Amino acid sequence: MAKTPSTKDDELASPLYIQSAFFPWQASVWNKLFTQHFSQMQEAQNFPHALLLAGIAGIGKKQLAFYLAKALLCESPELKSGQIEPCLSCRSCLLFHSANHPDLYHITTPEDKKVIPVDDIRALIQWSVLSSQFGGKKIIIIEPAEAMNLNAANSLLKTLEEPVADTIIILLSNKKQALLATIRSRCQTIDLMLPERQVATHWLEQCLIPENENAQLLLSLSSGAPLLALDLSRGEQLEFRRSIFEHLFSIINELSDPVKIAEALFKQAKGKQTKAKRTKTAKKQLYLTPYDVIYWMDSMVSDVARFAHNCAHDTISNIDYYDDLKLLSNRLYLKRILQLSDLINKAYYEIQGSVNINLLFENLLIDWKNCKK
Ligand SMILES: [Zn+2]
Repeated sequence: MAKTPSTKDDELASPLYIQSAFFPWQASVWNKLFTQHFSQMQEAQNFPHALLLAGIAGIGKKQLAFYLAKALLCESPELKSGQIEPCLSCRSCLLFHSANHPDLYHITTPEDKKVIPVDDIRALIQWSVLSSQFGGKKIIIIEPAEAMNLNAANSLLKTLEEPVADTIIILLSNKKQALLATIRSRCQTIDLMLPERQVATHWLEQCLIPENENAQLLLSLSSGAPLLALDLSRGEQLEFRRSIFEHLFSIINELSDPVKIAEALFKQAKGKQTKAKRTKTAKKQLYLTPYDVIYWMDSMVSDVARFAHNCAHDTISNIDYYDDLKLLSNRLYLKRILQLSDLINKAYYEIQGSVNINLLFENLLIDWKNCKK
């Protein structure tokens, strides 16, 4: 059984187990990670015992790690279009597909926690010294590695220092600098880059319903990360963005009062927290989180600052508001915009604590109004 700290039934359906290919932008890294290694592995068994796959969120690190695990466990990998890949039909691949492979151990943050606790790493270490069920390799995937608390990281360090034969540990990280230097130094690090925009656009267009979605806009709003762009197309975030942008324009045009808007946004965010209890009549209302409010405000303020700094055209995220934001930037004081930007960055942390959200929104929106020349 592929282990997780909390094994859930819906895990069985996870696309991570059933995927049958890497993403189009991962061909060269796949070649380096597996195809090139494969012939050497047959002779020398020299696959690194610990890998760190690092890169920003939304570029497919987790998918790559699971497909790599499937390939490393496969009993007869095959040549497909110039790459060696898992056969998808052997006993090992079939067990992997059903999320039941006994030689795979997946560890992530428990649902109710923000960190990977030391006990989870201890359980993993106990598992790592057992013999492989299939007589081949055993694979451990830990993600996100930066979620290990200090005790957990130190515990894992001992295993990294004294690797268990045929056990491969794959760590994933969105911010590798947050990992202990001693952990990083014991792993072979593979830095995964953003895909080229053309490749990402082509892939995204194939995932979307063409007439309803704008791949360029979604990628632009996701800093080029294709999986984040796809997520964005599926949720209500574009609607949140439109609503928040309308409020922000309306405050600058003196059509709305920042205090009233803050209160309205606060009520919407509060509604999100009690989402489970909402009634049918309330269904049409948007339920924002405080994070959504801060995030989209940040997005607009950052674009306005970029216009004011004459940054290049392709640095603007909200390309569908391009002309509106450009005009707006001429109506605002750059210095105040930059001060507001600092406050927004602080707000990301403040909303995680016990701050008065209504008051926080109020202050940010009043400052936004005061940016007007
Ligand atoms: Zn196979």
